[in-house]
Amino acid sequence: MRLSEHFTLSELTRSSLALRHGIDNTPGPEELDNLKRVVAEVLEPVRKYYGIPFSPSSGFRNPTVNRLAGSSDTSQHMKGEAADFEVPHVSNREVADWVKAHCKFDQLILEYHDPDIPNSGWVHTSVKESGNRGECLIFDGKSYRDF
Ligand SMILES: [Zn+2]
Repeated sequence: MRLSEHFTLSELTRSSLALRHGIDNTPGPEELDNLKRVVAEVLEPVRKYYGIPFSPSSGFRNPTVNRLAGSSDTSQHMKGEAADFEVPHVSNREVADWVKAHCKFDQLILEYHDPDIPNSGWVHTSVKESGNRGECLIFDGKSYRDF
């Protein structure tokens, strides 16, 4: 199933953990709508702006997959509201700055990011149906700070 011009449902649901553990990581209708929103608001605009193909490393994670990934029980990935990605040849800091300036989002997090290494970590972004906070954070593996 295609979620947008450049992104498919299988890209937003595939998980090596789910595969390895034989877990069905298919989202329900509500999670599917949420995935479409994060694709439409962030992933597709980033894809069109840079013109570089990329595939998110993580999108929807059902509670079992999310737990195996070591993620928190409040993770927006479980609702299909979040995606993790990197754009080849573009630093994660630059991508995050572009998203901050051009997209609607709830949280934008440079995860496991060392500010001295612009391409370190990855970009996590979430979008909700309403009440988006527009929060921009850097997580260096220990603590969060604004950017
Ligand atoms: Zn994430």
